[in-house]
Amino acid sequence: MSETVETVFANVVQRNPGEPEFHQAVREVLESIGPVLDRHPEYARAQVVERICEPERQVIFRVPWEDDRGRVRVNRGFRVEFNSALGPYKGGLRFHPSVYLGIVKFLGFEQIFKNALTGLPIGGGKGGADFDPRGRSEREVMRFCQSFMTELYRHIGAQTDVPAGDIGVGAREIGYLFGQYKRITNRYESGVLTGKGLSYGGAQVRREATGYGAVFFAEEMLARGGDGLAGRRVVVSGSGNVAVYAIEKVHQLGGTVVACSDSTGYLLDEKGIDLTLLREIKEERRGRLDEYAREVPHAVAVSGRTVWEVPCDVALPCATQNEIGGAEAAALVAGGCVAVVEGANMPTTPEAVRLLRAAGVRFAPGKAANAGGVAVSALEMQQNASRDAWSFARSEQRLRETMRDIHARCWDTAEEYGRPGDYVLGANVAGFRRVAETMLAHGLV
Ligand code: GLU
Repeated sequence: MSETVETVFANVVQRNPGEPEFHQAVREVLESIGPVLDRHPEYARAQVVERICEPERQVIFRVPWEDDRGRVRVNRGFRVEFNSALGPYKGGLRFHPSVYLGIVKFLGFEQIFKNALTGLPIGGGKGGADFDPRGRSEREVMRFCQSFMTELYRHIGAQTDVPAGDIGVGAREIGYLFGQYKRITNRYESGVLTGKGLSYGGAQVRREATGYGAVFFAEEMLARGGDGLAGRRVVVSGSGNVAVYAIEKVHQLGGTVVACSDSTGYLLDEKGIDLTLLREIKEERRGRLDEYAREVPHAVAVSGRTVWEVPCDVALPCATQNEIGGAEAAALVAGGCVAVVEGANMPTTPEAVRLLRAAGVRFAPGKAANAGGVAVSALEMQQNASRDAWSFARSEQRLRETMRDIHARCWDTAEEYGRPGDYVLGANVAGFRRVAETMLAHGLV
């Protein structure tokens, strides 16, 4: 990092103590943008970097709710409205016990550049709560969502801030949140949330978008080396929404996903994961992966070990932040992996990224590779604004084109800066430039 950027980073750490994930996300961007600042002294004069690192607004609120035994529970809710240079704040809500301000800020910060990379008119934000949906009944989840929205509604709006899902927030939760927003405001404002059900303003392909998009990105990346996913052995981590649709698209493109995982361990099926069964277990029964192995004799469930020990050509981390550390990266290299494409947000630690790069493994950061989800969210906003609904084929085509454009933006920017094939630099610089240019145009606001 250059001296100027080093000072900015030191200030960020000092002003935001105890938030290591946020520091990690900021550091990764700052490490890339030194050359941009050298070329554009006007950014430094306007303190654009300092301004980008400070959220425009942060809301922290109490979420009281009653469990099924009549006991009152209290959780903490967050919405960080990070940057609105390019459009309304846009980003998901995460319900997970690990959520605290530092996680929401790291995700919101990433979201600024990810959203900029899509080329669509969306700013960056993120929110959530330290609520654990695991083991909670339908009615408890509904009561929680209603209480969460009873505060959140005053901060959001189709032109202001448009949340969506993330870990722990899927179509069911978005439905409850939307219902409560509608009831409190007496407004049918379809564009206030994305990831909605298809019967009330949701977009085709939104559910599939993050997983499909990551695989389209992987396909583009492999195409630069003259091949694709066909015939490739792939390992996916996670078994939630991103993982499931990543597996589906890999199979459609002729690759084989031999393993996926959940918080209890991983599942190995050398014949390729049976998606119908996986979805039934995860989405309908809300069960665990070992149920799959009980039903499919040739499959094995391995508990308490990392899925990255399974040899593969392509790795798609689709679970959560920092799931691939140094040891996991070394295992991937030993297993012959040629490409790592992040479906989750920041699943690879900086140490692991260095190790993979040194071994010649191609690496795509989440802010480029998993942008398909938020890109289709922006298309959902577009359809809501025009009271339209596009077909599956049209939406998937737009997603594919968007991922191709994002890939090209990263690739071309890396070449322009003399670092061909460096997707981290390409994504950070291309995203940063669009936001910085716009902030300058808006003046000191
Ligand atoms: N949570 C997703 C992400 O990390 C999607 C956000 C959205 O659609 O607004 O990008």
